[in-house]
Amino acid sequence: MIAFELNEEQRLFQKTAHDFAAKELRPLALECDASHGYPPELIKKGHEAGLISFRYPEEYGGAGVEDQVSWALVREELAWGCAGLTIAMLASNLAATPILHMGTGDQKQKYLTRLCDPERAVLAAMGMTEPDAGSDVTAIRTTAVRKGDHYLLNGRKTFITNGGIADITVVYARMAGSKGLEGMTAFIIDGRPQGLTMGKVEEKMGIRASHTAELILEDVAVPIEDRLGQEGQAFLLSMRMFDESRIMVAALAIGIARAAYEIGREYAAQRSQFGRTLNKFQGVSFKLAEMATRIDAARLLTWRAGWLATEGKRMTKHSAMAKFYAGETANWVCDQAIQILGGYGYMTEYLVEKLYRDARVFRIFEGTSEIMQLVISRELYRP
Ligand SMILES: Cc1cc2nc3c(=O)[nH]c(=O)nc-3n(C[C@H](O)[C@H](O)[C@H](O)COP(=O)(O)OP(=O)(O)OC[C@H]3O[C@@H](n4cnc5c(N)ncnc54)[C@H](O)[C@@H]3O)c2cc1C
Repeated sequence: MIAFELNEEQRLFQKTAHDFAAKELRPLALECDASHGYPPELIKKGHEAGLISFRYPEEYGGAGVEDQVSWALVREELAWGCAGLTIAMLASNLAATPILHMGTGDQKQKYLTRLCDPERAVLAAMGMTEPDAGSDVTAIRTTAVRKGDHYLLNGRKTFITNGGIADITVVYARMAGSKGLEGMTAFIIDGRPQGLTMGKVEEKMGIRASHTAELILEDVAVPIEDRLGQEGQAFLLSMRMFDESRIMVAALAIGIARAAYEIGREYAAQRSQFGRTLNKFQGVSFKLAEMATRIDAARLLTWRAGWLATEGKRMTKHSAMAKFYAGETANWVCDQAIQILGGYGYMTEYLVEKLYRDARVFRIFEGTSEIMQLVISRELYRP
């Protein structure tokens, strides 16, 4: 059955997220981009609005919303307000997802409860990428060695969102001596134990409000009970996690694209040259028509992937298609919006300049556009 109408609950989520974005995110967007940070109370406010932990089961303090189209709707609206601030608010989900999928009852109780608690406003991080292991996650070198009732972790992680400021960090390592995807194991690091330090804090082109840093692990002791899943299970776990998170990243990209499109549309209706408003020139109105069409196509791909995920169906190809197309679309739409605004679009005081910079990373993180094409092309030959 195909239905394109949102149900009442989905519309409510969309409206709540939009109102929050309009009130709490958009007004701060340029300021937080310039200061490379965000007010710490933002996380608490996001919790209070019910926009951070709604997807987690009620027994851990979430609202138990399983509909991934709703999750995507929330992300589109928030990113419409500011993608950098949204990532600051929601990046913790990257660490929470493997805990939800692979964690034991005790691990979920201990960590998800903390992540859902509005008072604590806890941040989490997910550390996979390393200097020599980006797209090829099987090349990670961070090692785990079992010593009695704990593991010792050693290695270096790069470009980690919330890296070094998180209270909970899920780290991917390999059992010492293993190669490739065998031996890859995930661990939960509780707090900031001895040996876990923040390295270089990255200065980024876009999504500047969110924190990205290097994470250094030197003999970090992780108790056995904080290993996620069995030794060697982490590769499959991470692929499952990426299938899900790519849908949400696609939704963020759509929010950026929509914000840029709206600014372009409004500007074209007001700005006059040669005695008429810009939108009366076919060269401009056709741009707007294509921007609107591509955004809609990206959204439909994203909703389809979200629906499949909610139904528990395999959606590796669909989530990669959504992420690939939405990431490319956001970049293209922002570029067109700047063109419509002309010189004004190029100036930092207009939001489209920031949106253009924010959009760029959506062709890189959570799997680059090329890796998405790799995933899609492999899936095309799947029996
Ligand atoms: C702002 C930001 C936040 C991030 N946050 C996190 C985080 O929280 N946790 C985390 O673990 N990581 C994080 N990352 C890392 C991110 O996931 C990686 O940057 C990404 O996976 C790409 O890896 P790489 O940068 O090493 O590029 P590489 O893998 O070195 O790729 C370089 C280029 O080669 C291309 N390429 C590579 N392999 C192939 C291939 N087989 N076929 C065709 N082309 C190929 C790529 O598409 C790309 O164009 C973040 C990155 C950024 C920029």
